Amino acid sequence: MNDSAPSPLDKELNPPAHLADILGRVTALYRDEVAPREEALRHRLEDESQYLDADGKLHPEIIAARREIMRAAGKVGVYSAHLPTHLGGGGLGRTDMIYVEEQVYGYGCGLNPALLSWSEGATPRLLYCHDHQREQFTDPLVRGEKTSLHAVTEAGAGSNLFDMKTHATRRGDDWVLNGSKAYITNAFDADVVQVLAVTNPGGGRKTFTYFMFDAREMLGKGYRTGRVYQTMFGDGYTGELFFDNLVLPQSAVIGEVGQGFDIAVMSFNYTRMRRAGMCSGWSKYLIEKSLDRVQSRQIGDRPLGANQGIQWMVADMYIDWLQTRSLSLEVARSIDSPGPWYALPRPKDEIRRICALKVSNDESFYRVADRALQLHGGFGVMRNNPVNKLFQIARNLRIPGGTDEVQRTTIAETLGLRFEASKSAPVNAER
Ligand SMILES: Cc1cc2nc3c(=O)[nH]c(=O)nc-3n(C[C@H](O)[C@H](O)[C@H](O)COP(=O)(O)OP(=O)(O)OC[C@H]3O[C@@H](n4cnc5c(N)ncnc54)[C@H](O)[C@@H]3O)c2cc1C
Repeated sequence: MNDSAPSPLDKELNPPAHLADILGRVTALYRDEVAPREEALRHRLEDESQYLDADGKLHPEIIAARREIMRAAGKVGVYSAHLPTHLGGGGLGRTDMIYVEEQVYGYGCGLNPALLSWSEGATPRLLYCHDHQREQFTDPLVRGEKTSLHAVTEAGAGSNLFDMKTHATRRGDDWVLNGSKAYITNAFDADVVQVLAVTNPGGGRKTFTYFMFDAREMLGKGYRTGRVYQTMFGDGYTGELFFDNLVLPQSAVIGEVGQGFDIAVMSFNYTRMRRAGMCSGWSKYLIEKSLDRVQSRQIGDRPLGANQGIQWMVADMYIDWLQTRSLSLEVARSIDSPGPWYALPRPKDEIRRICALKVSNDESFYRVADRALQLHGGFGVMRNNPVNKLFQIARNLRIPGGTDEVQRTTIAETLGLRFEASKSAPVNAER
């Protein structure tokens, strides 16, 4: 159903007419660039032991295929469609991007996500890069010719940025960076490092600064990668980074010194908004797979889908999908209307809606993935099939980009609620 006849859900996508051209380009890219490479690498994509290399890192053949797809998508203006035209992007707003993302993720979880820039690519931090950074970093990232990483989290500072220890101090005209980062996506293959560090301890919103540098040039000169994490979805590209007296020039600063917090919030908002088409596209893919499964799987004298209990599970998956789409489009329209989503600072009510979008979409996609796995029975539990893989991915999505709890905390805070410890709570004298 996913790549052949239209499904009942296809009719509901209903993208606006002005997107016909870019959606046609996505169709052509999938047909000409993604599908043949997926076919050639099927033995790796469908077998975890072939997906990673001997060190547990993403296999170089898959990295190469993804890079080729990124470049192809960059050439026809799909890869960076979300960025403004003055940066070489396609100038699409958030609402339009949802339809593009839905189509891309609707192809499943093979090589198709490489068609659109994600955290390894042309992220909105590039909007704060300077002209002198354009040729070396910004332009190749926008065109999908280079990849990047975004290093914020530390082993001792995940959900709370203000616990961050990585710091950069002035030495003459230069900065000297020290510290380490944990759980970083694309840690081993990135051409470009974008790292957040403390430059003004205790400075409130002005505490942090972003730095950007060439990963290969600095490797072994104060910059190094550590172990690869063996994640539950076996991605092979999440790892550790270390900075030991890494000397960076002033020209490595993204935006202004002290602007890191605001740029980080804007970046996280963007990641959270990206959950719209991603969760919708993947949910749709899983509903279609599940419909196929329950209609074709015979148990006794009738198909599995003839049971009302099974039908209700599918109905619940549809309800979650519709909730994801409706909420996402509603939030995106409200973000697009007053002006570009990347202009700083962002209003609090907008941040609240984006947090609601992330937590709602991540949780409803997780429910969809859980039901899809259940409907696939023993086959769903087996590794090396897309239903199982998307279940692992869905569980993971609720952690990066701000956890479910962090989203709820921000929603409550922007509604005026503050945590207060109770003064009347009984005190345990032994504590
Ligand atoms: C696959 C993967 C890829 C990632 N990629 C990147 C990347 O590219 N760049 C990057 O910088 N980071 C990345 N991360 C890190 C991710 O952003 C963090 O894991 C996340 O922010 C949570 O931080 P933590 O793991 O330290 O959890 P902790 O902060 O230790 O939190 C543990 C649990 O406690 C909850 N919690 C924490 N504080 C509170 C509170 N005050 N009230 C209630 N509950 C609370 C959290 O919600 C969470 O459930 C990635 C993580 C994963 C798993």
